Amino acid sequence: MISEQYNENRVYLDNAATTQMSGEVKRAMEPYLNQNFGNASTAYSYGEESRDAIEKARAIIAYSLGAKPSEIFFTSGGSESDNWAIKCAAGEYKHFGQHIITSRIEHHAVLNSCEYLEELGYEVTYLGVDREGMVSPEAALAAVRKDTTLISIMFANNEIGTIEPVMQLGKIAREKGILFHTDAVQAYAQIPIDVRKYPIDLLSASAHKFHGPKGVGFLYIREGVKIPSFIHGGGQESGKRAGTENVAGIVGMGKAVELAFSDMRSRIRRETMLRNYLLEKVSHEIPGVCINGHRSKRLPGNASFSFRGIDGASLVILLDEDGICASGGSACNTGEERVSYVIREIQTPEDYAPGTLRMTLCGTTTRADVDRAVESLKRNVARLRD
Ligand SMILES: *Cc1c(COP(=O)(O)O)cnc(C)c1O
Repeated sequence: MISEQYNENRVYLDNAATTQMSGEVKRAMEPYLNQNFGNASTAYSYGEESRDAIEKARAIIAYSLGAKPSEIFFTSGGSESDNWAIKCAAGEYKHFGQHIITSRIEHHAVLNSCEYLEELGYEVTYLGVDREGMVSPEAALAAVRKDTTLISIMFANNEIGTIEPVMQLGKIAREKGILFHTDAVQAYAQIPIDVRKYPIDLLSASAHKFHGPKGVGFLYIREGVKIPSFIHGGGQESGKRAGTENVAGIVGMGKAVELAFSDMRSRIRRETMLRNYLLEKVSHEIPGVCINGHRSKRLPGNASFSFRGIDGASLVILLDEDGICASGGSACNTGEERVSYVIREIQTPEDYAPGTLRMTLCGTTTRADVDRAVESLKRNVARLRD
């Protein structure tokens, strides 16, 4: 009871970190946590329900992407999908070359996979971005070498919300005969992505970023692209990803996808309006603020601010006292780093950069939530500046 009350009084604006699982998703999962516990690999009919449920989820996800069910492989989430795509693509094609192109603002699941490959002798070009966080297709083209085998650029950035020019980047990769991977963890199920239109070979997604359960995601592997197993063992997932399937998780992800796509257009419109309202209100009511990321090519729910002369981590704590959940420069970079690498890369002015705050909305965020958040922001930014 107490925790539910707390929930009701809380304004949750950290949906890029994780989302609340919806009731419908929970209800869809329940049978697979209770009576339908059969192993999907067993021969007797008891496992059949699990098998069918997994295939139903695969079909829903494939349809949402314009892909074939045989191109969807379930994983434990975004980090595993990124590791799999990058390490295994690099390994499979190493006889053609050992050079990879990525950006400096990728998630650590991509950056650290690339660093690992560098330790193994690969070379990685880390492309910079402009002040709005945009990777330049021209720079990507210029970075291509004879021995380049993979380009990995995120669909949209988790901190500043910028949507990258994936169409052009994918085309460059295709023309050069290079694989193209995109970490679409922030974009998938938030904005439309159709792999029949986009030249994407590999795509990572994660359920807990779109109101599904934690610990489940998938990797899309375009038909004809040879990517070996990352997790070795049993023959699950067409022999490509071993391990007894997370049936409930997969079912929950399927349901979350179904829900996300059923009202995507209206949700995008609503979230964008509310997000713009938040950006404008903060810009008008709080002096000394800059907005990070691209003005229009950004995720509907993302707002990223930098306030002059304050510390973002302290602001997060003060907002929390008012029941507002938001995130500082980076959720993954607690510790000595005061400014996140993404904020540094977009050259946010030095007196603003440490005062970075991200607020990320979702489909159920209300105008009243935003008003409460701005009131708290106004008061606490002033307090910290005093
Ligand atoms: C959250 C996130 C990941 C990691 O996904 P997990 O499912 O939490 O492992 C990877 N990339 C981006 C862009 C993310 O936002």
